[in-house]
Amino acid sequence: MSGSVAGVVIVGAGLGGVRVAENLRNNGFAGPVTLIGAETHPPYDRPPLSKSVLLGKDDRVDLKPDGFYAEADITLRLGEAVTAVSPGDRTVTLASGTTVDYDTLVLATGLDPRPFPGLTERVAGVHMIRTYDDAVALRGEIDSARSAVVIGAGFIGCEVAASLLSRGLRVSLVEPAPTPLAVALGERIGALVSRLHVDNGIDLRTGIGVDTIVVSDGRVRAVELADGTELPADIVVVGIGSTPVTGYLDGSCIELAPREVGGGIACDATGHTSAENVYALGDVANWLDDDDVPHRVEHWNHTVDQASVVAHQITGGDAVTASVAYFWSDQFDLKIQVLGAPRADDEVHVVDDDGKKFVAYYSRDGILTGVVGAGKVGAVMKTRPKLQTPTPVADLL
Ligand SMILES: Cc1cc2nc3c(=O)[nH]c(=O)nc-3n(C[C@H](O)[C@H](O)[C@H](O)COP(=O)(O)OP(=O)(O)OC[C@H]3O[C@@H](n4cnc5c(N)ncnc54)[C@H](O)[C@@H]3O)c2cc1C
Repeated sequence: MSGSVAGVVIVGAGLGGVRVAENLRNNGFAGPVTLIGAETHPPYDRPPLSKSVLLGKDDRVDLKPDGFYAEADITLRLGEAVTAVSPGDRTVTLASGTTVDYDTLVLATGLDPRPFPGLTERVAGVHMIRTYDDAVALRGEIDSARSAVVIGAGFIGCEVAASLLSRGLRVSLVEPAPTPLAVALGERIGALVSRLHVDNGIDLRTGIGVDTIVVSDGRVRAVELADGTELPADIVVVGIGSTPVTGYLDGSCIELAPREVGGGIACDATGHTSAENVYALGDVANWLDDDDVPHRVEHWNHTVDQASVVAHQITGGDAVTASVAYFWSDQFDLKIQVLGAPRADDEVHVVDDDGKKFVAYYSRDGILTGVVGAGKVGAVMKTRPKLQTPTPVADLL
């Protein structure tokens, strides 16, 4: 690769794209590396957007210090969206019409948040949160608002609700499932997360959806629930999931994964797409897991691991990745941590619960599959070795 002219072109200057570029250089790759990003900001980290940025504690959340890209000889092209990919010609096309050649292409274009169904126009006071600009726009309205409704109690919805409440707003969190996080962690742990939100003062409405966002004079005024209840809202945050950003691949013949398995760009177990010398990773990518089952995962550590694998596929050698999956969510003063691969339908064993903090083991067919804790960092982390080999959950109980 190092003798090539075009080198590696990475589409998407977020966590995954930056980590691939950095790993290429760390692995000794000497050819050109070009990182193309649609946003104009220097590449930044997303987890703080729903937490410290909303709380007003952080402003710059850059992934790398100023000067990193120049020192690492990584060409950064910001504010330039890729609109087409042509694997036959080994080019990508930018919105400006310019084409960029590649020898190896890496796709790390992340997600778009799903808008509220039927809401086709921008309405003042209605927000979604995926980008830095989204977070700053929402933050800018907090001081002049009294009430907020967050639609959807997934991880991001729960975090935003907690942050808005901490900023002094009256917050309702509306979720059609019986508990928050029910899809990811099941209802038993969801109930403990419900307790956390209710005890902190969130008006939690579960088992019911939002029918309508009520608008007057171009600005949100309330939301109407399926049972006709109207919740007044100066701010509404829609957190009902996201879709992989793949529109620019139309006509490229690069295969997408079916929606039933999570959609996104179909990859093998090391990030190769259906096109030669084209890889995909991060939130947009749907890799085969160890059991050859397609999976798309929307977590930070997962993206970091995949970036290491992809860089090693390009430069040779074996990637060092975490042997046990991990992600976290910060809600109020608690860190919720998820280790391993627990599923909502696993058996759940709550082994510690002091009324606020808790630890639970998950098992399938008697074997430990995951550990979930809130405010129990040490207890969660010490189970990591038990998740590295099949461990009967009975050994821990
Ligand atoms: C608000 C929020 C909070 C989160 N909190 C947590 C957390 O607490 N814990 C956790 O584990 N994970 C968390 N995550 C998830 C984590 O941030 C993601 O898993 C991670 O950012 C994925 O990295 P990525 O590179 O795949 O995508 P992204 O970071 O989304 O980067 C993709 C980039 O590609 C760019 N792009 C898209 N299309 C194009 C195009 N056509 N041309 C050029 N560029 C393009 C986008 O502008 C974007 O900058 C959070 C995410 C969000 C949004």
